[in-house]
Amino acid sequence: MKEKVIVIGSGFSSISAACYLAQKGYQVKVFEKNNSLGGRARQLKRNGFTFDMGPSWYWMPDIFERFFNDFNKKPSDYYNLKRLDPAYEVYFGTNDKFIVGGDLEKISLAFESEEKGSGKKLKKLIKQAQINYDIAIKRLVYKPGKSPLELITLETITNLNFFIRNIQQDVYKNFKNPKLRQLLQFPVLFLGAKPKNTPAFYNFMNFADYGLGTWHPEGGMYSIIKGMLSLAKSLGVEFFVDSPIKKIIVEKGKASGVIINRIKHIANAILSGADYHHTETLLDLNLRTYSERYWNKKTFAPSSLLFYIGLNKKIDNIAHHTLFFDVDFDKHASEIYDSPKWPDDPLFYANFPSKSDSSMAPPNKEACFILIPLAPGLEDTPCLRKKYFDLIIKRLEKRTGQLIKRHILFEESFCINDFILDYNSYKGNAYGMANTLFQTAFLRPKLESKKVKGLYFSGQLTVPGPGVPPALISGKISAGLVEKYFRTPNRQ
Ligand SMILES: Cc1cc2nc3c(=O)[nH]c(=O)nc-3n(C[C@H](O)[C@H](O)[C@H](O)COP(=O)(O)OP(=O)(O)OC[C@H]3O[C@@H](n4cnc5c(N)ncnc54)[C@H](O)[C@@H]3O)c2cc1C
Repeated sequence: MKEKVIVIGSGFSSISAACYLAQKGYQVKVFEKNNSLGGRARQLKRNGFTFDMGPSWYWMPDIFERFFNDFNKKPSDYYNLKRLDPAYEVYFGTNDKFIVGGDLEKISLAFESEEKGSGKKLKKLIKQAQINYDIAIKRLVYKPGKSPLELITLETITNLNFFIRNIQQDVYKNFKNPKLRQLLQFPVLFLGAKPKNTPAFYNFMNFADYGLGTWHPEGGMYSIIKGMLSLAKSLGVEFFVDSPIKKIIVEKGKASGVIINRIKHIANAILSGADYHHTETLLDLNLRTYSERYWNKKTFAPSSLLFYIGLNKKIDNIAHHTLFFDVDFDKHASEIYDSPKWPDDPLFYANFPSKSDSSMAPPNKEACFILIPLAPGLEDTPCLRKKYFDLIIKRLEKRTGQLIKRHILFEESFCINDFILDYNSYKGNAYGMANTLFQTAFLRPKLESKKVKGLYFSGQLTVPGPGVPPALISGKISAGLVEKYFRTPNRQ
């Protein structure tokens, strides 16, 4: 008889795990609490506009290729990818914009025009970052994070100083221009921590950015989810929406099923891609590996205030991805990590996918998605959302030199309370747990429950960390552990 696995949630990590488990021949059922699949990568459609509700940056195309190749497929079997050029733009003030071109040569020239000699330094940095990228991808990130020994390789030993220094130190040492310093620290924000608290080894994100480039899947990031769902279904995975798991059943120390809408569903193993903290609340207190105190002490990646806006005209002076670094970077970072509060003067990110993909908005209109990073756990009220909406629209108008407010057809917001309600997210975090030195690899919550046999985890609170590519990897590693469990002699 086929072993049965229940997968909780339908985010990237869950679908990835489901594919690998089905490939091994297990019977896989995915239960999602919401009425649509994709987790934080769900899509919102309104009046002909399409918005990716969460991720919008397609980085590390090699990880997506590797995922589909594991099933003898390619991303192009499911969606069309286009490399963006410019990759993105960054506003530092009115009439002060830095354009990040579509290849390293263009970016080095732009650096050089800001600071003499910086183009050459950038190429050197990216060369080093590529070496770290190769070490990370080939030797580290596909490991289960069970033991510190996983980190000990010839390459990591010879590069030990990269784990001792932080990213900020390296950037500040080599670049004096404040804009270039901010630009080089931007990719680290994807890891969810301050550059000052992120080991210099993670400069491999700079290679991901300037070396591997920024891509766009036609139809938005949800096209990847659609592709993965199609693959999963072809492998026999079954998906169920509106199926919130209320309890994980444990018998004789083993996970044996779940309760959904008062009905018991049995399984030989359970793999949860729902937020780790929430999954453990589905267990009795004595079966949880991590206490509330443990979670409370951890550095979480930011939450976000998000706006999905339909505009009745095309907007000028804006790129598909535009960052607004026109205010004090360190102050906003401190309001996220050191003294959590709503930011006085927030940095923000604007996404206009209809700039390069006509399917995202009706003709001559523009789809706009705004993201303001926030500390998780803050108070979230309609009044605060409105205040920041007005503030951001004013800044957008000022920096891009045009009227925008009067062209808004509709707007919807999503913030901390929605992250909690929709995803059972701890303190309403958006991107999970940060990758600081002490929250890396074997120091992150484990993929395998220490107290319940047959219970596994995946996703952005465990290894390797936040982001879509790590979620794909997480699903793969966790599915591998389930397979090992099924092969354990005398498991029954
Ligand atoms: C606003 C935003 C922007 C981002 N931008 C980027 C980006 O540009 N690029 C990038 O690479 N990454 C980005 N990320 C991060 C990336 O989206 C996430 O790391 C990744 O999608 C997380 O996948 P996951 O499988 O870990 O979890 P999730 O996608 O959160 O999936 C967990 C699922 O579990 C479900 N669930 C929870 N509780 C239960 C229950 N009891 N029963 C059943 N189901 C349950 C939830 O509804 C959810 O569907 C962004 C995230 C956000 C929120």
